[in-house]
Amino acid sequence: MLLIKNGRMLDPGSRTDAALDVLLDGERIAKVGANLAAPGAEVFDAKGLIVAPGFIDLHCHLREPGQEMSETIETGTRAAACGGFTAVCCMPNTLPVNDTASVTRGTVERAAASASVRVWPVGAASVGSKGEALAEIAAMKDAGIVAVSDDGKPIASARLMRQVMDYCGALGLPVIDHCEEPSLSAGGVMREGPQSIRLGLKGVPAQSESICAGRDVEVAGLTGAPLHIAHMSTRASLEHVRAAKRQGLRVTCEVTPHHFTLIDEDVRYNPNYKMNPPLASRTDREALIEGLADSSVDAIATDHAPHHPASKDVEFDHAPFGVTGFETALALGLSKLVHKGRISLVRLVELFTTGPAGVLGIQRKIAAGEPADLTIFSTDLPWTFRAADSLSKSRNTPFDGRAFRGGPVATIVAGRIAWRRSFNAGQAGN
Ligand SMILES: [Zn+2]
Ligand SMILES: [Zn+2]
Repeated sequence: MLLIKNGRMLDPGSRTDAALDVLLDGERIAKVGANLAAPGAEVFDAKGLIVAPGFIDLHCHLREPGQEMSETIETGTRAAACGGFTAVCCMPNTLPVNDTASVTRGTVERAAASASVRVWPVGAASVGSKGEALAEIAAMKDAGIVAVSDDGKPIASARLMRQVMDYCGALGLPVIDHCEEPSLSAGGVMREGPQSIRLGLKGVPAQSESICAGRDVEVAGLTGAPLHIAHMSTRASLEHVRAAKRQGLRVTCEVTPHHFTLIDEDVRYNPNYKMNPPLASRTDREALIEGLADSSVDAIATDHAPHHPASKDVEFDHAPFGVTGFETALALGLSKLVHKGRISLVRLVELFTTGPAGVLGIQRKIAAGEPADLTIFSTDLPWTFRAADSLSKSRNTPFDGRAFRGGPVATIVAGRIAWRRSFNAGQAGN
C-alpha cells in the first residue's frame, strides 16, 4: 500500500481541487479522503505538490523494433516517467511497421518486460503505412492497439481515409492523422515565410497541413467515425476542428509543447529546430494557445521523436525531422501557459489527463477502484533541463539548458513509484 499524503489533489474528472490524501492498494486506488491513515503503508509526502491523475501522451515514437540506436521501449518509457507520463501511445512507424497483430504483440510483450509506464500501441492504417491496402486493423485491436495512424505520413488519400474510418468507426478506434499535403510539402524543411526566405531554406506552406485537415474533417462527416488530428500547428487547421465540433462530429486534436513554445523565427541552422510539422508562425502559435485555452484543443501530446546524435549531426537540410519531448512537456506547459496566465492549472491538467483519455474513449479520474496511476508535480520548483542528463537515448531537443519553474516530482504507475525526482541530481532519478 502507498499513501500519498498532504498534497493538493487536482482531479478534472471529478472536478476536485482540495487537500486530500490518496491511498493506493496494489494496482488500484483504494480510498480518497482527508487525513487518511493506513498503518503499515509506505507514505509519500506530497506537501506543496499537486497530485493529479496519471498523464497520458497520445503521440510518441519509441523506435523499437528496428531503431534501438535512437530509443528503446525501456529507455523511452524511463524518459516518459521522468516527464510525469504514466501511459504513452507509440506510433507505428517502427521497423517493421506495426501493421500486423504479431508486431503489436511484440510491442506489448517488450513493454511488459521492460517498460516503466503503460505502453499503448497505435497500429498502422495501411500495410507498411504505404497508403495502399488496409492493414489488419481488427486483429491488431485484439492484440492491443488503441488507435490507428500512418504517422510520419498522412493517410494517403480521401478514399483510403474513408475506408479506414468506416472500419475504425465500427471497431470504436480513433483514426489519428498526420495532416500534410505532400504535393505542397515536398522538399520543405521549415515553415514557409519570411524566416525561411532569410535562411534560404525550402519552406512548407501552412496550407499543407490545413488542406489535409479539411479533407479529414469532411471524411469524418461522411463516415461519422472518430478523427484525431495529430500535432496541429496552424490556425486554419484549428478552424476546421472548431467547425467540426460545432457540427457535433467526433473530431479532436492535439498540440505539442514545441509548437506552443517556439515559432519559425526561432529556427536557425540547428537541426534540433527541425520537425514535422515545422514550427509555426507567430500568429498561428497564438491561435494554438487560444485553442488550448478555450477547449478547441483536446490534448497536449509530445510527438517525442528521438534521433541518434549522429543522424542529427548533419546539415539542416539533411537532418531527420523530430525532437524529443517527454521530459520538458509539463514544464513548458507550466511556464508558457499557466505562469503566463494563458490557461488555468486545472485546464493544463485536463490537457494531459481527461483530454487525451477522452480521445481514446476512456475515463481518467482519482477515485476508489480506478487504476493507481498518478502524476505528482510542483508548480514552482526551480530546475534546469540538461539534455546530457536525459533518460532518453537521444539528445535532439531545442530546450537544452532551459531553466524552468515547476515540473514532475513523482510518477506512479499501477501503484508503484515508476520515477521520482532526486533533488540533488537535476532531472535524473532512480
Ligand atoms: Zn507526425
Ligand atoms: Zn509523430
